[in-house]
Amino acid sequence: MATAKTARKKSPQRAPTRKAPARKQSAFDALIIGAGFSGLYQLYCLRDRLDLSALVLEAGDGVGGTWYWNRYPGARCDSESHSYCFTFDEKLYKEWQWSERYPGHAEVRRYLNHVADRFDLKRSIRFGTRVTAAHYDEAANRWQVTTEAGERLTAKFLITAVGCLSTANVPNIPGLDSFKGRWVHTGQWPHEGVDFTGKRVGLIGTGSTGIQATPVIAETAKHLTVFQRTPNYSVPARNVPLTAEFQRYVRENYPELARTMRRTPNGHAFVIEDRSVFDVTPEERQAIYEAAWEVGGLQFRAAFRDLLADKAANDTAADFIKSKIRQVVKDKATAEKLANIDHPYAAKRPPIDTDYFEAFNRDNVALVDVRADPIEAITATGIRTRSGTEYPLDIIVFATGFDAMTGPLLRMDIRGRDGLPLAEAWKAGPRNYLGLQVAGFPNLFTITGPGSPSVLCNMPVAIEQHVDWITGCIAHMRANRVERIEARPEAVERWVEQVNIAANATLLPQVPHSWYLGANIPGKPRVFMPYAGGMARFRAICDGVAARGYEGFALS
Ligand SMILES: Cc1cc2nc3c(=O)[nH]c(=O)nc-3n(C[C@H](O)[C@H](O)[C@H](O)COP(=O)(O)OP(=O)(O)OC[C@H]3O[C@@H](n4cnc5c(N)ncnc54)[C@H](O)[C@@H]3O)c2cc1C
Repeated sequence: MATAKTARKKSPQRAPTRKAPARKQSAFDALIIGAGFSGLYQLYCLRDRLDLSALVLEAGDGVGGTWYWNRYPGARCDSESHSYCFTFDEKLYKEWQWSERYPGHAEVRRYLNHVADRFDLKRSIRFGTRVTAAHYDEAANRWQVTTEAGERLTAKFLITAVGCLSTANVPNIPGLDSFKGRWVHTGQWPHEGVDFTGKRVGLIGTGSTGIQATPVIAETAKHLTVFQRTPNYSVPARNVPLTAEFQRYVRENYPELARTMRRTPNGHAFVIEDRSVFDVTPEERQAIYEAAWEVGGLQFRAAFRDLLADKAANDTAADFIKSKIRQVVKDKATAEKLANIDHPYAAKRPPIDTDYFEAFNRDNVALVDVRADPIEAITATGIRTRSGTEYPLDIIVFATGFDAMTGPLLRMDIRGRDGLPLAEAWKAGPRNYLGLQVAGFPNLFTITGPGSPSVLCNMPVAIEQHVDWITGCIAHMRANRVERIEARPEAVERWVEQVNIAANATLLPQVPHSWYLGANIPGKPRVFMPYAGGMARFRAICDGVAARGYEGFALS
């Protein structure tokens, strides 16, 4: 199968003699698109474990994916550092020492560069290379890939590692072109940074990113106006530097931590309490919430097992957080705007913060409720709302998220059997099998595609599971001289149904404005995209499919 075989090495770190693909080499066993967590691990598995010729094509000029692009002030992980990393290699896990409970963007980037260097991956990555098209050639059973620069490459396997949150969404607000100041999107942050000193800044969006950026921008900006359409819950992150004792604990407990991450429904290194909200008295519940608030971060959500299954149970957590917002924010009208939250807690991506609500107690921070008074236009000098109010600004920051999950895939012209465009196959919303394969697109694998737990999980765990499965599948194909694998349409039908059943067993689809449903992108079909049945269950399903000879896939 390998077109450019070299001797198999046990550890590329110890024996970095494997040849880099020649610049002009254009035919590979596998092409991988994206050099974030997914692409790096997939490259390592295919090149160094299966000995395939593999190349990564990456639009950015460095590794890191999300963390290459998202360098906005306050950009930081919500997963705890000891779980936001690879677990496939015990030595790698133990040798890297995180400095804080939640790593900032620069530290995650350093970590991913360390991984890439340790496994000598960069020589198999072409940076600054955006893929614009990928067409399946049925006669040759190969994918023909075209880059923005017009380069053409082919591969038997095409693996998208393009991420779920990598297509920045700049809302189509009339007048943006006329703005004389500067505007930036948090997901495409300039590498040299943005100096807010003495500037009047407008920040649009109060999702996880806006919540992270607000307090940090407020520290240097002359004035910050936060434009809020959807009020949001947030729990204090309680970030701290990690003590030597905790770092030792992490090193010494690798097997246990890795096991926990693989067994918990959301891939974190903490377990969800096995108690229901109404199993305890109101006083006990209040004490539990207070304790969880002190622990902070995503662990708050793990205080009870039924927070996302039962609206009445969820209301107790929602009311608790709203009461905290009212306690923190001194101006009553602002506090009400912030606490006027209309969706269940954690039914949208649950932000965690450092001093977000506190930022509204500063003299230089103001909140504008754009649900009550929508943004009408961007003018040469700022933002105008429907009431005619003008907000003069020097810089506009769009913290408006991404065309999530399907965006990065549909931006490319992907065509399967008989030239079928992916956009056509998915015109009513994404349809695939296990989030991994689309019927009619043989040998194309989508890491953390829609229909997989992805964004509902601590993502490195979801990524490792998908990559391991794909690697096992390709190894199986090689061992059995199988040339082509393709999801069967009836398996896709069944899986789409499973994804819907899993979502409907939770409160998640009940938020009409959620990006999990594609609601932030005009014209995008409203389909709940990730698999909400839990990572552990998903892993068992995928393992079962493989064990039963890749049930639901056609192998030929
Ligand atoms: C601000 C922010 C905070 C986050 N925090 C967390 C967190 O706390 N915990 C968590 O689990 N997850 C978090 N995530 C999700 C995060 O995306 C994943 O954890 C993880 O980084 C995904 O890795 P990936 O390799 O799959 O995708 P990405 O990191 O998104 O990498 C995809 C890469 O593909 C490249 N690419 C895309 N299209 C093309 C193309 N056509 N041609 C060439 N290259 C292309 C992109 O340039 C990018 O480098 C966060 C996301 C954001 C935006």
